[in-house]
Amino acid sequence: MNKVPCAKDARQGAAAFRRALRNWFSANGKSYPWRETRDPYAIWVSEVMLQQTQIATVLGKGYYTRFLEKFPNISCLATAEDDELLKAWEGLGYYRRARLMRETAREVMTRHAGIFPNKYEDLIALPGIGRYTAGALLAFAFGKPAALVDGNIARVLSRVMDFQQPIDDASGTKKIWEWAEILSDRLHPRIYHSALMELGQLICKPSQPNCGACPVAKFCLTQDPQFLPKKRARPVVTQVTEHALWVRNLDGKLLLHQESNRRRQGLWKLPIREADELSDWPILTECHYAITRYRVHLMVHEPLRQMSDFDLRSGESFHSADEALALAMPSPFRRVIEKLLSSC
Ligand code: SF4
Repeated sequence: MNKVPCAKDARQGAAAFRRALRNWFSANGKSYPWRETRDPYAIWVSEVMLQQTQIATVLGKGYYTRFLEKFPNISCLATAEDDELLKAWEGLGYYRRARLMRETAREVMTRHAGIFPNKYEDLIALPGIGRYTAGALLAFAFGKPAALVDGNIARVLSRVMDFQQPIDDASGTKKIWEWAEILSDRLHPRIYHSALMELGQLICKPSQPNCGACPVAKFCLTQDPQFLPKKRARPVVTQVTEHALWVRNLDGKLLLHQESNRRRQGLWKLPIREADELSDWPILTECHYAITRYRVHLMVHEPLRQMSDFDLRSGESFHSADEALALAMPSPFRRVIEKLLSSC
């Protein structure tokens, strides 16, 4: 059977590969809101959210729907206030992406009169739009020929081509994108790329790929899919402990701190102190969360001293429970605050 693209009749092999994928998708493809629209704005929002979050979470927890209700078009997003933007993005993490989306929206408003461009060069020139997102917009919104590689597609292609090098270094990335270009379906870009992604989600899964049910098994070169793709060595995970304060003033208002660092600018959380500042303050609650390569042990302390002994630091202020819950904050802190407020 033909293998692609190294068989003698590579062109026919690639065409048969694409056809097999499309046929399988026609019978098995799932329906998602972003697959039922051609609106580039709605598709773009889904693409940004799905870069970091599973489909089940984006839909099941209502992130996608809520965001589009709050900002139904590019003009609304372009004029979003910081607080409402962060609040709408809350729970998705990587808050810088939300601000970058607003920057993109502003550029689309000023450079393209509020209409998403449909040329690769124009899309890639926008802030926050890389070649994956540009390709996704071309294929899914405009039905134009495009190449795109996300995690699912990279995995499938690495297995189909039996690629034994890391896919996440410069030369591996280049190779995967080359194959994506070669195999790309110029006539049916939308359905082809949806099919390739769906294959990665349902059949060619990271562990235990179901090769027996795979529509492109006869084109696939690997004998050991469970060992692919190869990746570079992961960075070492660093364990960190954070000490947070749970302080309420005489009116019952809660002390919060607004972040000013670039990554989480504008978000609210409990004030953090050095371990030696808290000495033996009792621990009210604790939890663990992960962020990038850090595993954080968050310990929340209650004060031993009177409130009057506290000097507020930059960015700190008191808020009623209702105010606090309406602020945008990282999910681990929201969970802790909700838990402690409900037990007060
Ligand atoms: S045959 Fe197996 S490894 Fe190859 S693409 Fe299909 S599911 Fe993936």
